[in-house]
Order: sequence, then C-alpha cells, then structure tokens
Amino acid sequence: MKTFKEGNYMSKFRIAVIPGDGIGPEVSNASREVLDAVAVKYGHSFIYEELLAGGIAIDVTGTPLPKSTVAACRSSDAVLLGAVGGPKWDTLPGDQRPERALLGLRSELGLFANIRPAVLHPALASACPLHPDTAAKGIDICFVRELTGGMYFGERGRRQSAGGEEAYDTEAYNVEEVKRIAHTAFKIAMGRKKHVTSVDKANVLESSRLWREVVLDVAKEYPEVELDHMYVDNASMQLIKRPGDFDVVVTSNMFGDILSDEAAMITGSIGMLPSASLGAEGTPGMYEPIHGSAPDIAGKHIANPLATILSCAMMLRMSLGLEREAEDIETAVADVLSQGYRTADIVYGERSDDNVMVIGTFEMSGKVKKSLIGIK
Ligand code: NAD
Repeated sequence: MKTFKEGNYMSKFRIAVIPGDGIGPEVSNASREVLDAVAVKYGHSFIYEELLAGGIAIDVTGTPLPKSTVAACRSSDAVLLGAVGGPKWDTLPGDQRPERALLGLRSELGLFANIRPAVLHPALASACPLHPDTAAKGIDICFVRELTGGMYFGERGRRQSAGGEEAYDTEAYNVEEVKRIAHTAFKIAMGRKKHVTSVDKANVLESSRLWREVVLDVAKEYPEVELDHMYVDNASMQLIKRPGDFDVVVTSNMFGDILSDEAAMITGSIGMLPSASLGAEGTPGMYEPIHGSAPDIAGKHIANPLATILSCAMMLRMSLGLEREAEDIETAVADVLSQGYRTADIVYGERSDDNVMVIGTFEMSGKVKKSLIGIK
C-alpha cells in the first residue's frame, strides 16, 4: 500500500522529524544517519524539519502539540517520530501530558491505520522467549491496528455513583471506521500470505459485534483472502502458542496496542519493532518505533535504534515510493545482526563465544550505514 502521489518521481523529500523525549532524540538522530547514507547512495535529497512535540514541547511552548508542529507535519512528505513522555511530566493532568501529542497528531493528520510488522529475525532466534521449536518455525505477523477510534478517543469522564466517584471510558466504532481499517488489512494481506485474523471480543461487546459484521462484509471483496475471527483473550494465547500461523491481524485501537506489545516480546525486543501510521491516500504518513521514550536508559546511548531505522524503511516504501531503498535498509539491518552486532536489549542467553558483540546506539546505526554503502 502506498500513500505517495502516483507519478511523483521527484527525489527531493521533506521529512518532518519529531525527536521528542527520552531516547527519542537518540534513536531519531541515529536513523537520520542511515537515511543520509540512502540519500548519498541513490542521489536523493531528504530535507529534515525538526519539530517540537511531547514533554520538550511542554517545556518550551507550554503545550504538548504546538499548532506549528501540526502545520509543518501536514505540509511534509512524511513524519518521523522518536518517542514522547517521561516521569518529569507524569503528574500533569491527562489532557496536558506529552502523550496527548500522539493522539493529537493521529487525529489531526487523520492517521487511522497503524501498521506494525512483527518479524523474528533469524539471527535473533535466541532472543525469542518462546520454545525453540516455536521460534524455529519463524514469526512474521503484520498487525493492522485501528488508530483514531475506540476507547482512546471515546467519551470519557468522571461522575458520582452509588459507590462513590466513578470513571468511565467509552468503546465505540461506526461502520465507516471499521470498513476502512478492514480494507487496509485485506489489501496488505493480498501482498502477503492472504490470511487475515480479525481480533475482537464479540462474545461480550456490542462494538465488537458490529466490528465482526463489517469485517465479514468487506471480506466479500477479497475472495482470495482467508478470514478468521478470534476473541482477544484467545488471540493473546495463540500468539504465544503458534505465532507462526498468523499473517495479518486486524483489530481495534486498544486490543492492537496490547497485542502488538506482546508480539514485540516474542520477536525479541520492543527495540526492534517499527510502525507506520497511515491516513487517506496522498496524505503524509507518520513513522515511529513502537517503543516509548525509555527514561530508564535515556542519555546512556545504549538504546536500540533498529526499530526507528526499520520505521524509516517503511517510510521510504509507503510514503516516498522508494521500495528499492527500503529493502536496502532492511537487508543492511539483517546483515548487521547476522554479523553478531547487538544492542544490550537483544542479547538473550548468548555467550561471547557465539560471536556476539554488544554495541551502543550510534555504533549500531554506523554499522547499518556501513553495510548499506558496502563497507564491512
Ligand atoms: P518504553 O517502551 O519506553 O520502555 C519499556 C522498556 O523497554 C524499558 O525497560 C525500556 O528501557 C525498554 N526499551 C524501550 N525501547 C527500547 C530501545 N529502543 N532499546 C532498548 N530498550 C528499550 O515504555 P514505558 O516505560 O511504559 O514508557 C516510558 C514513557 O514512554 C512513558 O512516558 C510513556 O507514556 C511513553 N510512551 C511513549 C510512546 C510513544 O512516544 N509512541 C509509546 C509508549 C510509551
């Protein structure tokens, strides 16, 4: 699926970069190094505009998502985001916290589809906490998470009840919202193993019953794609038991948030998983690692930049139409891992005689860059 304008062969691209907080600036700077190598190798020009959002934006401007940031993102070809949030801002009221910037960007840019590929790289098989036989079968799942509806955007509040103060959040989906995310999932499945698993809680939730009806309806337009439905509690078990059987998983905002983090763990580390958030054709997509700002390791230069680097590959493919360049980044990442280079988060039970070398954030991006331009 491409969101770039067909026929747009210019090689000059404007990328809005939101480094954010914690490890966000480290992983986004490391990724820019790789993008710059792509630019030199293929003769492209990436023009970066650094923007404020999250905690740092609160400190500088008093708001987590300045209007100027939204405007600059809208006029870019794509947005690259590090991560936002941290303990410094944790005591602020919910609507003023750094994470509001994420929800704001998603709704302002109309980013309704979050694509999260969860792949177990063969070189990282030992980083998979599952049974070795399960890991040996391989894991390659593409999560398609609805991103602008459901409980994260539904009506919420507090009120008095017989049991004292009561808080509520509302899960609501309409037909159009489910239709467009289902189409996204089926289109992606057509380019993969042609299998969609729709995850819901239709045995309990009315919103899930509508979700299932609409997905069944959309499926009629994709007769080649096999569709099955799974309750979210069962899906969380099956992902552990037989992850190799999944291809594309489509689900709601909240279920997708939780299940894709589970997938991050079974594929090694949250530091490995990229994501793309897409809206209507021709609008800028947003690309970010699925991890947060990791305040516990911020500033130590040990964060894994590969999730962000792989997000850049998704950006090149999905927003800029640069498939060959995207594949080049993915090949370089696989090459560096197979050479034994690891950040600390992806060392699992390996021994030094396994030829594993633990390196830092910028050493890792440097290795990817060197592999990309053909230097060992
Ligand atoms: P987190 O993803 O930041 O960290 C969870 C654990 O994973 C930590 O131990 C961390 O050190 C580790 N980790 C994360 N990314 C890593 C990487 N690239 N390399 C190595 N280790 C990595 O989640 P959290 O601790 O729940 O949240 C921290 C802050 O980030 C909070 O303020 C939260 O709201 C925010 N957050 C932001 C985003 C986002 O910007 N998209 C997403 C999730 C959480």
